[in-house]
Amino acid sequence: MNKIWILGAGQLGAMLKHAAQPLNIEVRPVETDETETFDIANDDIITVEREHWPSTAATEQLTQHPRFLNGPALVQLADRASQKKLLDSLQLATAPWVDVKAQHSAEQLFAELGERVLLKQRSGGYDGKGQHWLKLDGSAEQRAIPQTWLDHCIAEQAIAFEEEVSLIGMRHANGEMAFYPLAINQHHQGILLATVSPVASKAHLQSQAEAMLAKLMDALDYVGVMTMECFQVGDKLLINEIAPRVHNSGHWTQAGSSLSQFEAHIRAVANLPLVQPLVKTQSVMLNLIGVDYNTQWLSVPGIEVFWYGKEVRPGRKVGHINISIAERQQLLASLSQLQPLMSPVYADAIEWLIKHLD
Ligand code: ATP
Ligand code: MG
Ligand code: MG
Repeated sequence: MNKIWILGAGQLGAMLKHAAQPLNIEVRPVETDETETFDIANDDIITVEREHWPSTAATEQLTQHPRFLNGPALVQLADRASQKKLLDSLQLATAPWVDVKAQHSAEQLFAELGERVLLKQRSGGYDGKGQHWLKLDGSAEQRAIPQTWLDHCIAEQAIAFEEEVSLIGMRHANGEMAFYPLAINQHHQGILLATVSPVASKAHLQSQAEAMLAKLMDALDYVGVMTMECFQVGDKLLINEIAPRVHNSGHWTQAGSSLSQFEAHIRAVANLPLVQPLVKTQSVMLNLIGVDYNTQWLSVPGIEVFWYGKEVRPGRKVGHINISIAERQQLLASLSQLQPLMSPVYADAIEWLIKHLD
């Protein structure tokens, strides 16, 4: 069996490797700053766990290999301006936007997009980093485009969304596709904090979402798992952004589905049979953000802890907890047992989760 090389060696790479082991597939996540010369066989496969990477000896070796998958698609999606242009050309709805050029002023953006405008750097942003809000009635700082952002950002209209939902799909080289049910996502300070999936009240949006992501994956002739983050406005979905990889809002699939998103990606890129993932029961996921590991979490029945082994820093994702318990009373009991073991910000997140249970 061919070896799979992963550009990037963060938690997503580690979980891809973990998922591939029972399939008897060797996975080698690669840090972008590694300096060795890799022994990549002609029929090995190269995929990614991140959408941006610096040009280094390691990334050059991986991306120049003939079996580096999805190369042109990754380039097109990595820049928010070309990503938005692509979505526009496919008539896939997104937040109205402007490609910010040197001559643009905040006034022009307010005139075109409205009183609240979100500037997003064209590349490199994640967890809400690389964003700047412009507000017509705000402070001086909120009424001007930062000088260094000109030519390097897009501007988006502020969307008054009801909910943030995401769809994770997978596509095989032969064009076959499968999708997970929509997830709903709660963010805290720009970082994903909690996810629930499936959610009965979003089931009516599923076919709309699948048609959108299918159109995009087909247009890119994409192979592997791709994620579409959306804003729900009434019964309409607007794409917020596309992540051409496994995604934090799909971590629940490790506990709540017959096929995790990580195994799904491995299967797709390794050309192994693709099946519609079966959902076991409604699942919830909580990100562990800037918190220390607490072995007491393990005393809560039904919770599954994933610790990434990273240095704990404020605002940094260091692990996640999945809970997939079919019996409602047990789920509620486990959540209330977990709450005092978490910092106060999680009280709101757990309340949000409970509110969104079917
Ligand atoms: P990620 O960690 O998901 O990659 P990111 O830094 O790439 O995040 P976005 O997903 O584009 O950034 O935005 C982060 C969050 O900011 C969104 O999940 C949403 O809550 C909010 N947001 C983004 N765009 C808009 C918008 N046009 N209107 C209102 N809120 C927005
Ligand atoms: Mg992003
Ligand atoms: Mg996002």
